[in-house]
Formats: sequence, C-alpha cells, structure tokens
Amino acid sequence: MTDELDPHLQDAYTEVLRRNPGELEFHQAVREVLGSLGPVVERHPEYTDAGIITRLCEPERQIVFRVPWVDDAGRVQINRGFRVEFNSALGPYKGGLRFRPTVLAGTVKFLGFEQIFKNALTGLPIGGGKGGSDFDPKGKSPGEVMRFCQSFMTELYRHIGEHTDVPAGDIGVGGREIGYLFGQYKRITNRYESGVLTGKGVTWGGSQVRPEATGYGLVYFAEQVLAHRGTSFDGRRVVVSGSGNVAIHAIAKVHQLGGTVVACSDSGGFVVDEAGIDLDLLRDVKERRRTSLTAYAEERGIEHRTGSVWSVPATVALPCATQNELDAADARLIVDHGCLLVAEGANMPCTPEAVDVLREAGIAFGPGKAANAGGVATSALEMQQNASRDSWSFEHTEARLAEIMRGIHERCLTTADAYGTPGDYVAGANIAGFTQVADAMLALGVI
Ligand code: NDP
Repeated sequence: MTDELDPHLQDAYTEVLRRNPGELEFHQAVREVLGSLGPVVERHPEYTDAGIITRLCEPERQIVFRVPWVDDAGRVQINRGFRVEFNSALGPYKGGLRFRPTVLAGTVKFLGFEQIFKNALTGLPIGGGKGGSDFDPKGKSPGEVMRFCQSFMTELYRHIGEHTDVPAGDIGVGGREIGYLFGQYKRITNRYESGVLTGKGVTWGGSQVRPEATGYGLVYFAEQVLAHRGTSFDGRRVVVSGSGNVAIHAIAKVHQLGGTVVACSDSGGFVVDEAGIDLDLLRDVKERRRTSLTAYAEERGIEHRTGSVWSVPATVALPCATQNELDAADARLIVDHGCLLVAEGANMPCTPEAVDVLREAGIAFGPGKAANAGGVATSALEMQQNASRDSWSFEHTEARLAEIMRGIHERCLTTADAYGTPGDYVAGANIAGFTQVADAMLALGVI
C-alpha cells in the first residue's frame, strides 16, 4: 500500500496535496485508493487520457455554512456545517452526516471520497457524498439537539433532494437527529419527500434493518471471508471496537452466528467480558442512558480498562469506532494473537502502516469500503421503498442485505484475480469500485 505510485497517479496525488493543504485524512484516503490503481491505468490508458483520476479527486461541489442556534441558557452558539457532493456519475450523492467536534472540511472530504467507491461496489445507483458539523451532541439537551438540527437543515435543504443528494446518519447522527432533520425539511419545503434522507423511523418512511445494516453487513462480509478460508464464526472469540450503532449490531450478529464478542470499547476505554458482551446492558448504557462503558463495567462487576482494546486476544477483530484507531503497534498485537481476520466496520479505522503489518502477516483484511457497505446499501433499499411507496418485511430486507454483501465479497475476489492480486480485498474493492465509476464518467463526457 505504501509502494511508489505510477507517474500518472503520482501527478494526480501531487495535485491533491497542493489543492488540499493540511487535510491529512483526505490525503491518506486518496493515497490508499491510488495505491491500488497502477495495474488499472496501465491496462486502460483511456482513463488517464480523459483525466478521470484528477477529476475523481476533486469534489463536484463543496458547501460550507454557518449553523447558528440558541442553547438552553439563551446563549447564541455557532457551529460550522459541511456537505461535500463528491461524485454523481452513478446516481444522486449519497452518504451520511457526522456531528462531532473534530469534524473539519478534510474529514468530510475523506469520508466522501471513500463513499464514492463503497457506493459503486454495492452495484446500486448511488453517487458519493458526505457531510456533517463540528457540533457535539454529547451533553446537549434534547431541545438543544433539535434546535441545532433545525438550523442545520435550514441551510442544507436547498442543496439536497431525492434525485440530487440524499444524506443519512453517521457518528453522532442517529434516528433522533434524522427525525429532527427530516421534520425541518418537510416543514420548509411543504413536501413529504421521504427519499430525501435515509435512516428514518420505520413508521415514517424508514426501512426495516437500516439501523442494523452496517453491523450485520460487516459480519456477513466477514462470514464470507472466513468461509473462503474454510472456517466460520462458530466458537470464535471476537473483539469489536466502539459501542455505537455499527459495533452494537455487529456484536448482535456475531452472537447469532455462534461467535462470542469478549470486548468492546468507547472513547473513554474498554471492557472485557469473558462471558460475552451483554447486549441488553450495552444498549441500555450507550443508547438509552448515552453514558460511558464505566456504567457497563460497574453493573457487570468487571474492570473498566484504558489503553488498547486490541491487547485482548481474539481470532476476529472488527474495528467499528473511528478513523485511524488501530495503528501498527495494535496490528502487531493482533498478529501475535494469531488472529485470522480484521474487517473494518468503521471508515478507515486502520492506519496504512497497520494494514501493511496485517497483510505482511497473511491476515485476511476486509477494507471498510467493502466490509461496511451494508449500511449505505440498505439506505439505497430505503430509497427504493420510498420511490415505490412500499415497505418491505424485516426478513426480505435482511435477505437482500445478505445477498448484496455476498455480491461485494465476490466482486472483490474476482476483480483482485483479474488484476493479478488474488485474495487481496483492498485491491479488489478499490479497483472494482473505481472502474465502475470511471466507466460511467467516460460515458458522461467531461463534466
Ligand atoms: P456512533 O456514534 O453510533 O458510535 C461511535 C462509537 O465509537 C461510540 O461508541 C464512540 O464512543 C466510539 N469511539 C469514538 N472514538 C473512539 C476511539 N478513539 N476509541 C474507541 N471508541 C471510540 O457511530 P457509528 O457506529 O454510526 O459509526 C462508527 C464508524 O462506522 C464511523 O467510522 C462511521 O463513519 C462508520 N460507518 C457508519 C455507518 C452507519 O450506518 N452508522 C455506515 C458505514 C460506516 P463514545 O460513545 O464514547 O463517543
């Protein structure tokens, strides 16, 4: 991954560095994709002739706006809002909103860039985008969260629409926030345009399985990788990082498949529960009480630890928290434990150095673009249901999700084979996602 780039790709990358100074996560995401594309540009000079790589690295549109709101004490607060509409060659921009104090333009760009290839890999008609704000929902009252969401949408509404740009949730944006955002959109536009946002509640236009989709999809993908290596989750020890939406549903699906998740984390530390993480208690602590894992540890009478959750031995590791949470030192711990598979539930949780360590050790590695695509895929299924004013059963929707994840796994492997890197899910995901978007861009002309 950290090999030298082909000269055409290097030119495109140099341009990204020049145009986006200081946006390290964006640089990292671009470098990671370009690192896989050497054999593609060699075989297909038409892509570089048409400037596809340079065009792909430049968002079609970037919106930055002020979000004023009034807190419970009557003080005026100002946050910054973002929406990066990265690429619409395959369909309307699609990607979540992240509310977190650390969100900067470069964060949203890195996430939007990843989203282009992930969305293409699903085989569904969705382009790539992402958005968010440096607003911190933690410690805010429900009224403050609602007023913030309403102010955020008061600007965002003019840029989105079911055929234009369809946001969803991400870190800090769950069902509650999507509800407030959709309510304000509906009020301002005087339209019940269900397909403008995904992640809605099932009684008002949402899809069954959307809350579960990223975590379930991750585990379906991991199950395919394990099956390809002749094994399964049954009886396996698993470690999951994070304890939010993705982590909770990944834990649930691992348990359904006979594995045991023995540890999970949050931004304050981690817990090891050898009996298996108690999901009811975890959901009560993180979703209902919105508090720290210290409460989980207290109720279970176990230690609340700080440091790296990857120090806990397991045969499958599922990073589901945030970008760059798993570094080379963590990867070495994982290798030493004899782990078989690392699959990314979060976006870019493994640093490039960590990925090098894992791949050199022969550990199967499922990149987020492929492994966590179940969330956006189910969002696209939500859009389908909204367009046809239909609502599918849980079983039908979950079966579609499982089929999509099997398809993504298959595409990664076939593409990796076709480009001479058998079994390499990183190359497979990057190349399959890229060629699908690049072919559409070629067909649509220089726009
Ligand atoms: P949530 O906000 O629901 O949960 C995030 C979790 O990660 C929280 O438990 C948080 O802890 C924890 N966390 C944050 N930073 C750290 C850290 N440094 N170390 C350990 N834990 C940490 O977000 P999601 O579950 O929705 O998203 C998680 C990741 O998955 C993100 O990268 C997101 O982009 C990606 N993703 C999400 C999708 C979705 O459908 N939601 C779809 C595809 C990808 P605390 O509670 O203390 O804040």
